[in-house]
Formats: sequence, structure tokens, C-alpha cells
Amino acid sequence: MEYRQTGKSGLYLSEFSFGSWITFGNQIDERLSEQLLHKAYDAGVNFFDNAEVYAHGKSEEVMGKILKKANWSRDSYLVSSKVFFGTGGKLPTQRGLNRKHVIEACHAALNRLQVDYLDLYFCHRPDKSTPIEETVWSMHQLIMQGKILYWGTSEWSAQEIMEAHRFAAQHHLIAPIVEQPQYNMVVRDKVEVEYSEIYKGVGLGTTIWSPLASGILTGKYNDGFAENTRLGREELDWLKERIYTEEIIGKVRKLSELAKELDISTAQLALLWCLNNQNVSTVLLGASKVSQLEENLNALNYRDKITDEIMNAIEGILQNKPVLPSY
Ligand code: NDP
Repeated sequence: MEYRQTGKSGLYLSEFSFGSWITFGNQIDERLSEQLLHKAYDAGVNFFDNAEVYAHGKSEEVMGKILKKANWSRDSYLVSSKVFFGTGGKLPTQRGLNRKHVIEACHAALNRLQVDYLDLYFCHRPDKSTPIEETVWSMHQLIMQGKILYWGTSEWSAQEIMEAHRFAAQHHLIAPIVEQPQYNMVVRDKVEVEYSEIYKGVGLGTTIWSPLASGILTGKYNDGFAENTRLGREELDWLKERIYTEEIIGKVRKLSELAKELDISTAQLALLWCLNNQNVSTVLLGASKVSQLEENLNALNYRDKITDEIMNAIEGILQNKPVLPSY
């Protein structure tokens, strides 16, 4: 495993990290969750991603139990939470990026994860109804209190990230260091175009999510709908509608042929493609089976196969390269 600097911060993240969305506290049981977390840690993964909203807090509880039992040295891993969506409560104080919820959600995540501090704390979405000043101050105060070490954003626009930076700089507060955007072969704009000036300017790390577009980019849906998979879950019909399309499956079929020529799996090709982007600090893996995680981690052994020629061949298949404005 290699480690990458997160933007311009001093924090190094393992190239592959591991997250628990849909799986922990929901799709898989605690024993399998434990096996997966151990498999990742043993392979050198140093970052475990979580959020208050995942399984309404249960995902953090499960991860917390495993971390406590494993008793790994606290300086050998990082754990995150994310605030915004709440754990299911409908009251205005139970969600958002207002100071009350940000502080209370942090305390609740610390309890569920059974840790003294969160290494990374993400604002899971922008909150149009809370002034940015209030959120930046709240994050700064949590850092001052030692409850979080770094803070970041998830799915914020470049403009929103820069507003946070401007306010933080004006008031000598600690600014966000990292963004958690979706990035994969079918969703590219934010990472490749929108944030390009921020990487060069104030600096920005990225912990990218859904590198396999929820499994579509493994090729397992190429020959028809695969049962007992994420996209078969009723609560994710909205996601299936968005990504299980003829156009995407057509491209994945061609990617699978290319992967076959390289003697790697389609999933490995898709993951290595993400890692090839140097603005990616870490690729967040998800898995519902140990064999999936093994296959995905093994991709690192084949990184030399992703030459410029192969990247061009992939571009030829995808036909979706975002264009930087020319002015
Ligand atoms: P992926 O796109 O990699 O999807 C993971 C899922 O794909 C697995 O659970 C499994 O689903 C399937 N899969 C993975 N590997 C294989 C394989 N080798 N062969 C076949 N199927 C495979 O990542 P996620 O969408 O899970 O995102 C990763 C993490 O990113 C999350 O856990 C979370 O921490 C974070 N995230 C953050 C978001 C945000 O808004 N900030 C949003 C979403 C995720 P199955 O077996 O059920 O089909």
C-alpha cells in the first residue's frame, strides 16, 4: 500500500480506504463487517469512512465495536464521520450544518464509534439554510477542543469550498482540507474540472466515493440484472434508475473486453483508472463480500498495466472526458 498526501495538508491517506455505506448495520452482519475491516487494515488501509446517516447511526456502532475489539494502535488508522443528514429525526435541530447539530452529531458519532476524536469530519452536503460562518466556526471549535483533527466537505461546489476558505482565512480559523466527491468512470466533472483551480490554489485532497459506481463498473450487470446485489435493493431504486442504463452497460461491456486483454478484472481496471488521477488522495472501497475486497485490493499489484496507451483506450470507450473551459 502506498500513501498519498491529502491536498496541501500534512495528512497521508492510504491509496485505498474503506467505507461502510449500505453494508455495515444493514446489508451485512457484524461478523462479516469485522472480517472486512480486518482485511482492509491488514492490507495497509489506514482510513475507515462512516457517517451519522449510514444505517441511522448503526453503521458507526458496528464499526465502533470492531475498532474497540481490534484495539489497533490509534496512530495506525483514521476514522471519519459526516454530519448533515442526521440519523432519522425530522426536527430542524436534528440535521443540517447549524452549530447545534454539528456539535451534537459529533458527540453522538464519538460515542457510537467509541473513539476520543474523529480524524476527519465531513460536512456531508452544503446547507443553504446555515451561514457558512457558523459552520466554519463550529468545525474550528471542534478542532480546538480536540474532538476532530481535520474537517472537510462532501459534494460541495468549488464556490462553496472557496467561501469556507475565504471566511477561515479572514478570521484565522482552520479551513477544510479535503472534499469527498463521487468519482468514477461515469461521473467525472467535479474532480476533473470544477475543483482544478482549488488543487493549485489553497489545496484540496479528495476521498472519492463509489469508484465502481455502486458495482456497475465490475461488469456484473453486463449480461442482465444480477440478483442479490446493491442495485437490487428496493430502497435503492432511485440509484438503479440513474445508473443501470443501456448506455452505461454498453460501455462497461467494452471495458470488460479491455480488462480481459490485460488479464485483470473489470473492477480492478475501474479502480486503477481512479488512482491514476493524482488529485485523488484515496479511493474509498465498498464491499459486501470478502472476495470482493480481496479482488479490489489486489488491483494494486497491477498498476503497471495502466499505461498511457490503456488510458487512451479507456477514453475512447468512455467518450465522456470533461472539457476545461478555454478562457
Ligand atoms: P463502490 O462503487 O465500489 O460500490 C461498492 C459495492 O459494489 C459493494 O458494496 C458491492 O455491492 C459491489 N462490489 C464491490 N466490489 C465488487 C467486486 N469486486 N465484484 C462485484 N461487486 C463488487 O463504492 P461505494 O458506493 O460503496 O462507496 C464507497 C464508500 O464511499 C462508501 O462506503 C462510503 O464510505 C463512501 N460514500 C460516500 C458518499 C458521500 O456522499 N460522501 C456517498 C456514497 C458512498 P453488492 O455486492 O451489494 O452489489
